[in-house]
Amino acid sequence: MIKQRVYQVLPSPLKNLAASVWGYYLRHLRFDHQTETLVEEALQRESWDRNQWEKWQQVQLARLLQVAATTVPYYREQWQRRRRNGDKASWELLQNWPILDKKEVRDNPRAFLSENSKSKHLYIDHTGGTTGKPTLIFESREVIRNIYALHEARTRRWFGVHHRDRWGMLGGQKVIPLHQRRPPYWVWNGGLNQVYFSVFHINTETAKDYVRALWKYRPVHLMVYPSSCAILSKFILEQRLRPPQIKVIVCNSENTLPKYRELMTRAFNCPVIDTYGMAEACAAASECLALTQHYWPESGIIEVYDPQKREFSTEPGTAGEYVLTGLMNDDMPLVRYANHDLGYLPNWQHQCACERKLPSLASIAGRSNDLVLTKDGRELYILDSLYNGLPVIEGQLIQHTLDSFEVKVVPDETYTRSAMLGAITARLQQYLGSVNITLTEVTEIEKNANGKFKPFVSMINAQTYR
Ligand SMILES: [Zn+2]
Repeated sequence: MIKQRVYQVLPSPLKNLAASVWGYYLRHLRFDHQTETLVEEALQRESWDRNQWEKWQQVQLARLLQVAATTVPYYREQWQRRRRNGDKASWELLQNWPILDKKEVRDNPRAFLSENSKSKHLYIDHTGGTTGKPTLIFESREVIRNIYALHEARTRRWFGVHHRDRWGMLGGQKVIPLHQRRPPYWVWNGGLNQVYFSVFHINTETAKDYVRALWKYRPVHLMVYPSSCAILSKFILEQRLRPPQIKVIVCNSENTLPKYRELMTRAFNCPVIDTYGMAEACAAASECLALTQHYWPESGIIEVYDPQKREFSTEPGTAGEYVLTGLMNDDMPLVRYANHDLGYLPNWQHQCACERKLPSLASIAGRSNDLVLTKDGRELYILDSLYNGLPVIEGQLIQHTLDSFEVKVVPDETYTRSAMLGAITARLQQYLGSVNITLTEVTEIEKNANGKFKPFVSMINAQTYR
């Protein structure tokens, strides 16, 4: 905290120096002499068939379950309790493990640390905390290096770029003070060879400064929060600004809505790639140039659970809540971890034009925290297609009561209020029956403290209605 306060008052050149020193530390932490071998191996595994992957996953899983059941206090006590109650189920089989809600881990992360890792230096990462308190994740340098090698292979090498290339990040770190009204709205990080742009300062006046900085630093690729890059793209198009040629834009941390992708593609004239991942590193996926989202089987085992039927789905086409067993972090094993994301099982039948055999993962349907509660007690995820084809850049749905909703939208150039009100009312009423809808136009939708866009806000406590 103190470090952050000191950083914020530094003049720009010293901010660059501080960011660069931090960047050298991060580079040393994430990459080492083994990185290239790990990247090569990851790329070679992409030709494996399902059978090879399942065998490989079973070996990793057996190791992880043993570490979890015998060296992690939380699980060990859980199994001891079961044994005392006469339960003879084997911990060697994943199906015998209970679902672990993310709240358990958030409330007591240290109970999930393996005693094998006591002598190691563990680094702390944390989840984005879009819905409240972040969860602390502990991992050794080896785990971090393995995760970054996979990212290097699948979010960079697939597109011919390298972490040593100059690159740009558009993300939620507060790299300059929030109240700053003059450029630079970015900081240069020499350690990572990265220019880090603030998502908090993009508006119609500052867009040209961002484009000027893109010309100055000439990043080869960009990693972005898609909602922010889409807004920047909108200003670029409106003001006919010309950004330099970028090889690829990789989106992370938020859903990449179709409208976002369209704006970014038009403004930057390059491929826009979506990814799925999490600080817990229990599951990850990324798109190839054919825009298939490919699952990364090294990351973990995905199961899909239907909480209403209280059973696991076996069909790839059925959506449900993710239950994830991460295979990469033996320091803090998460077994059957329910992170409240909704999605589908990986599909091994899909044959992609890119010829990689990694299974496809149908686009992530959202988070169970984004469920609208209806008057008749149903919980619906309606955000996916709510704005499809409508003249808005982005929208936020706010549920005030069971039958009153507010829709905040950032209009695009073809927007008219009457048409929008008619269309959005019809769509919402189709899902929710007769409800009151207020429409508000805004120039931007406020971000949360992490710089992320929140597509749905509920002002009611769903628990009280369940
Ligand atoms: Zn593909």
